[in-house]
This record gives sequence, structure tokens and C-alpha cells, in this order.
Amino acid sequence: MIGFIPYLVVPVLVALMLSGAYMIKKKGYELSKFTRPASLVLFAVMCVRYLWNANTIALFEVRALDMFSPFGDSAMLSTFIAVILVWFTYAAMFAVVFSEFYNYKTLRHMANFFSVPVFVLAIVFFRIYAVGSYTEAGYVLSDIRVWAMMIEIALGISIPVSRVIAESKIPIPTKAETKSLLFALPFAVLAIMPCYVPQAILGFASDSIRVQGINQVHRFVIYGSVLMPFLIFHAFKNKSEDVKRAAMLYLSLALLWSYMAYRDLVGITPDGLTGWVVPTNLPLHLCNTAMFIIPLCLAFKWDKVFYFTLFINVLGAFIAMMVPNTASTVNALGAIRIHFWINHYPAFFMPILLVALKLFERPKFKQWLYSQLAFAIYFVFILFFNAWFTNYDSGVDFFFLNSDFIVEKLGKWAEDTRNLVVSFNIKDLTFTFYPVYQTIFYLVYVVISAAMWFLYALLFTTWDAAEDRRLKERDYKDMKKKLKEFLGGKSIFEPATGDNSPRLVLREFSKRYGSNKHYSVDHVSLDVKGGEVFGFLGPNGAGKSTIIKSVVGIQTITSGEIEICGYNVQMQPVQAKLHTGFVPDHYALYENLTGREYINYIADLFEVNKEYRDMVIEKCVERFQLTGSFDNQMKTYSHGMKQKITIMAALVHNPAVWILDEPLTGLDPTSIHEVKECMKEHAAAGNIVFFSSHIIDVVEKICDRIAIIKKGKIRACVTLKELEEKGVDLEQFYLDIINAEDDAATEAVVRAVVSGEVAEA
Ligand code: ADP
Repeated sequence: MIGFIPYLVVPVLVALMLSGAYMIKKKGYELSKFTRPASLVLFAVMCVRYLWNANTIALFEVRALDMFSPFGDSAMLSTFIAVILVWFTYAAMFAVVFSEFYNYKTLRHMANFFSVPVFVLAIVFFRIYAVGSYTEAGYVLSDIRVWAMMIEIALGISIPVSRVIAESKIPIPTKAETKSLLFALPFAVLAIMPCYVPQAILGFASDSIRVQGINQVHRFVIYGSVLMPFLIFHAFKNKSEDVKRAAMLYLSLALLWSYMAYRDLVGITPDGLTGWVVPTNLPLHLCNTAMFIIPLCLAFKWDKVFYFTLFINVLGAFIAMMVPNTASTVNALGAIRIHFWINHYPAFFMPILLVALKLFERPKFKQWLYSQLAFAIYFVFILFFNAWFTNYDSGVDFFFLNSDFIVEKLGKWAEDTRNLVVSFNIKDLTFTFYPVYQTIFYLVYVVISAAMWFLYALLFTTWDAAEDRRLKERDYKDMKKKLKEFLGGKSIFEPATGDNSPRLVLREFSKRYGSNKHYSVDHVSLDVKGGEVFGFLGPNGAGKSTIIKSVVGIQTITSGEIEICGYNVQMQPVQAKLHTGFVPDHYALYENLTGREYINYIADLFEVNKEYRDMVIEKCVERFQLTGSFDNQMKTYSHGMKQKITIMAALVHNPAVWILDEPLTGLDPTSIHEVKECMKEHAAAGNIVFFSSHIIDVVEKICDRIAIIKKGKIRACVTLKELEEKGVDLEQFYLDIINAEDDAATEAVVRAVVSGEVAEA
């Protein structure tokens, strides 16, 4: 009789462990030095107890609980409690162990607020818990499993509690954390549900209701489970890789755990030993191996082995589900069918799910080759084991390589392939092979798995395309929402600010390329109004092109805002571009077109009417002396001529803001003169001309205002008139700024000029 023993042992163990944890913490060691080994011990103890002759679990024979009924005549309530406790303690243990190795808030909360109460209930209802597990016969102090249960409960309580104590505050979950806990908990608990739970819920009670064949219990499990992979995929697809890996490892271990409910590690029957101590019982069937390979691949990132599962196990599981081998395994309660399902269904969906979640690469031909190598090894290994073990147990038939299980379904011709038998003896062992049958079997499997490769390619390409589209649609929706908020009721055709008059504004504009740590342009603000020729001076690499490219909208903005005539270049890109003309530092023309065809093409894009474009063409062709060559293909043009075409193209829609990046590079003196005239005229007509250069003379001659940029920052922004009044030479000013050693020295140069000290000196 056990009596009060557990109520004494467990609290004493908990007290001992908590004081041990306290000492460790006090000595200044990490608490994990205690909790990590402790949680591994918890896992090991529970594993061994669980596998120790699993079939004696009373819940497999649910009615066994009729024998024990502390709640009056009804075994109902005690059965219910036992089912829940046996099931939930598995999940509680997993949460404690996982939360030790994966420090996610949700897992920690699960350990604190789910595992601890479950283990407390397990001690409160210890007798029901123990009898539910091992029948009344196992509820004795001489049964080591009862002691294992007490240790598990003590560890399951003390690990989370000692962590809470070490942090010296109760970790109350926030609202968001509670939400993810409530979402994750049913998933975590359901994933580990042993197969007798639905059996107990729907099938227990009396002798007359026996669960056999495919009945409502199986349908309940099977139909419900079809949804599982899709729900899991949606729950995790946007999570980080670590979270996905941890969750899938949990799931695959939980499924392995459920599957093992029908497996013994060691069992003792009147006939002798059973379980895996007997090699003929080893889980070497294809779908059995999948249950072990999947968690191992996840835990250790065994990419190559994984593809064995993806190509070979998935195929095997699929065939098995289509042609189930239930004949030999239906027992009195029929729950074995759920067991069969728990083995084959995850072997089928888990590998595909892991690829869908991108935990493993989309399979390519190379990965198929890995799978074939692993399959060949598995096949030879199984051929050998089958032949060897048949000496001890005639029923040994891993992967159906020995029996007529498959061929009998296919007809006589298939059965005939087994007629050729090769048999030989080594000492007193006989090895028997069926070379024709086994070779055909192997080849057929290889061919079908190659077909799987095509199927996967099709599946994942379609899947990725759909996902891509979904993301794009989401981005589009987000963008529309943002735009609506941005416009605040205005039409997109109205400027966000101002009255559409020529203006170029940069507000705290910054740009960082890719993963660069430093900013190529750092918090630049500018305001240029109509009528101004604005020059942008700076050494190579200062950030001039970067600013220009963001202004004209050919590259993104890291932060800040840019407006052209009141149109925000990010939110109203088309409207901003309609007001912009751009001459890049390296032109890119469609050189098979003639100059005229090209300009007409650009004018069409900007919807410029015929009269205006003809007027521009006539004026520019003459000015740039292109009359003779305008109708020739541009590939016959010189560099200068191409540059002039680029300038024409930028002006054909009479842009309010004309932007030029180093426009005069490589032009002859006459052309330089013409371009400068063009710029002056365009500004005189009330427009903005904004250009970058490192030729000080040019800037000095045509600009109204200049900005000097160095290392991504504007160091000075002054009118030329101002400089002239103060008697400052632009070239000297520029050189002083560029040559100043650091930011402080640069500022000093500028301050001296602005305050007029230079002139006085
Ligand atoms: P500028 O036009 O004044 O010569 P840029 O704007 O081209 O200068 O370059 C400013 C800085 O940004 C430089 O340090 C340059 O290396 C960097 N940069 C420019 N373009 C890129 C790019 N596409 N990717 C990464 N860095 C870039």
C-alpha cells in the first residue's frame, strides 16, 4: 500500500531541490548549471518510465479503471482525470525541458502557469495518475515506476519554481504574452496527445462499446488531423527561424512520444522479453524511422539525411496510408489504427511542412541524389537484417522486403517475381533473398521517388509563387493604406504641400546603402525655389549622386522626406517625376533609335503635345548643332552628341525642376557654353536647375546658390552674392572646407565666412 508516501516524498524532494538551486545561485553560479541537467534528468526519467512496458498503461484498456473508483460507483470521473493527467504531464514535461533550452517567453510562461499546476494536480491525484498508468497491480512501492513518477513531479515543479525564485519576481505575462500563451498551449498539448485519449473520450465505458475498425474515433482523429499541417504552417510561417525550429522540434518529439505509446523499450510477458531489447522488434520500418529522423534532423541540422525523409519516407508513408497494413495489427480496441495514423501521417506531412516553412531548402536534384544514397544504404541494411533476423523470428519483414504483402495486392505476375529464391548458410544461420523481387522493388522505388522530385518542384514553385503574390498584395494594401493616411483626404494629383509652384525640398534626408553601417548622406535639409540655379559641390564620394538619385526617385530613401513642387517623391512618385527632368552622369540611350525617335518616345511618355515638343526639338537641334545627324541612329553619335540628346530628353516636358549630375563632363567648350546657357534660361523662366559638379569655375559662373557637401553632410549653403559681398573666393572657401581635418575645423571655416571674419582679415 502506498498511502501517504508520495505526499511526503514529493514535498521533501522539492524542498531539497529548491534549496540546492538556492545554494547554487548564492554561490554566484548560473542557475542553469542546476536547471539544465535537472531538466535532462526529468526527460530521461520520464522517457525510460514511459517506454518501460508501455502496454501496461491502464488507459489502453480504459475499462481497467473500473477497478478503481474513488468517486462512488462511477469510474467516469477517475478515468477522465487519469486520461488528462497522463496526457498533460507529457506536455508539462516537454514545456519545462524546452523552456530550459529555448528561452522564449511563451515557453517560460507555459512552464510556470501550465506545467507547475499540472504536476501539482498529479501529486494531488497521485493514485488515479498511477493506476491510470500502470493498473492497480502497478500501484505498489516495489514498482520502480511509481518512484520515477514522484521524481518527475518533484523535478517538474522545482525547475520552473527555482527559475522564478532566481529572478526574484513573479513573471506575470503581459497581454500580448497571454495571447500567445493561450494560442500556443492548445497546440502544444494537442501535439502530444496519446492515441488512447480520443479512444477514452469516445470509446470507453462498457464492454459493449468497443473501438474497432474505422469508426467515429478514427474519423475524428483522421479528419481533424488533415487540417493540422495547414494550421501549423499558418501559425509559424512568419516566425523567425529559431522559433520555427524550436516549435517543429517540439512537434516532432511530441509526435514521436505519441507514437511510442504502443512501443516498449523493455517488456516482460509470460513468453519472455519483448520490446526493443529484442532486435526483431526494432523500429526499422520505413515510417518508424521517419519518426526518429525528423527530430534528429531538426536538432542537429542534418540537411543531407533530411532529404532521405523528404523523398523516401514521405513516399512510403503515402503509399502506406493508401494501402494500410492494418490486418495484422488490429487489436481488441482498434486503437492501433490511430497509432498507425500517428506513425504514417506525420511521416508524410512533417518533411513537407519543414520545407514549406523553409527550415530546409527547397529540394533540388542534388538533394534527390543525397536521398538516393541514403536509400541505397537503408535498403542494403534492411535486406541484410531481414535475412539475418528471420532466423530468430519468421515474421521479421522490415519494409516488406521479405513477404508477399505487396505482391499479393498486385496479382499473379507480381507474385511470380518472388519465385527466384537465393538461400545460403553461414554457420547455422540461413540467409534468404529474393533477387528479382527485391531488385524490382528497389528500382520501382527509385523511379517513383524521382517522380516525387518533379512533384515537389511543381508544388513548391506554385506554392512560392502564390506566397509571393500574397506578399505583394499585402504590401500593395499596406502601401494604399499608408498613402491614404498620407494624403489625408487630398487627391494623389494634388501636391502634399504648397501650391505646385517650382520647389525642391529635402527634409532631414538620409541614405544608407544595403547593410552599410555608415550613412552615405546624413540628415541633409535643403529648400530650393523657382528661378534658382543651385550648384552642388563636393569631392568624389561626398554623396552628390546619392542625393540626386533619391531626388529623381531611382533609389529608395532611408529616412527623411523629399518633395518636388510639393509632391512627395516616395508617396507620389509619378507626380513628382512628371515635374522632374533628369540628366544622369552616365547616360543610357536606346542607341538603335535615331535622335528624333528617341526624343519623341520620351515626349510620348510624358504626354507632351506635338506643338510643344516640335518647338523644343527645333530649338535644341539648332542650338546643339545636331541638324545633320538628328535622324541618324544614335549609335553613330559621339559622346558629346549623346549627352546633348540626354539633355533634350530631360527638357522636352519643360520640367519645373531640372536635375543634372555632372552634366559637363566630356563636352567640348562650345557645347559647355550651350548647356550653361540652357541652364540659365531654364531658371530665368522661373524653374529650378539643380546640378552637381566638381568644376568650381562653372559653378561660380552660373549658380545663384551653392551647397558644399563633404562626407555625406552639407557643410555650407550660401548664395554667391553673399560670398562676393564678403570678399570670399569660392575656390578658396571650397578648399578650406574640404581640407579641414575634422568636423570642428570645417565648422570653424564656415563660421568665419558667415560672420564676415574672413573679409575683415
Ligand atoms: P559623389 O556623387 O559625391 O561622388 P556618391 O553619392 O556616388 O558620391 O557616393 C557617396 C558614398 O556612397 C560613397 O562612399 C560611395 O561609396 C557610396 N555609394 C554610392 N553608391 C553606392 C551603392 N550603390 N552601394 C553602396 N555604396 C554606395
